[in-house]
Amino acid sequence: MPFSSLGLIPALVRAVDKAGYAAPTAIQAAAIPAILRGSDVLGAAQTGSGKTAAYALPLLQALMAPVSGPRQVRALILVPTRELAAQVGQTVHALAKPLPIKLKISVLFGGVSINPQMMDLRGGADIVVATPGRLLDLVRQNAVKLGGVSLCVLDEADRLLDMGFSEEINAILALLPGKRQNLFFSATFPDSVQALADSLLKEPVRIEV
Ligand code: AMP
Repeated sequence: MPFSSLGLIPALVRAVDKAGYAAPTAIQAAAIPAILRGSDVLGAAQTGSGKTAAYALPLLQALMAPVSGPRQVRALILVPTRELAAQVGQTVHALAKPLPIKLKISVLFGGVSINPQMMDLRGGADIVVATPGRLLDLVRQNAVKLGGVSLCVLDEADRLLDMGFSEEINAILALLPGKRQNLFFSATFPDSVQALADSLLKEPVRIEV
């Protein structure tokens, strides 16, 4: 099955071409049409499955819809580590390049000075990729607002909980509008992860690869 049959706009089909992806991976073939339809998705997937592009491509397409008013964060991607934040940020950046509307992507993580991240957020952002602790710090300093988020991704949810981010995640989720699409990816599903998925997702499409 080619990328062009998944419902992606031509600019994003060009983007996957440029990235050198010949054909969708299993999770991409299943998740992209479901996300484009607006469904919540529960993905059981390991790193290396292609899960980043599986959510990044339809997320970017959703953000191509015109909006009025000032730039606000419409898509939030929560990840457990600085390394994953950087990696996801790079992938989203690369895939967004051929798009006709320029999207601002901010990558926020702890362990480094907060000031450059505050500066980076000055002009607003369309997409935030963040680790939970630093994101909450920035919210508390009024550097970023999350009231416009319509799409929320939890990537590597099992590691998010393993690293003790449960409270931060709940605090962040409480700041988001109730009406939104949620995407949840995890390699493993112990009870704590399943409980978080159950509380977050509405009639999710389940994908196991
Ligand atoms: P991920 O599971 O998202 O961490 O992706 C693992 C690696 O697979 C990354 O280096 C991607 O660039 C690559 N990748 C993602 N989708 C595809 C695809 N459809 N074809 C080939 N490589 C891909």
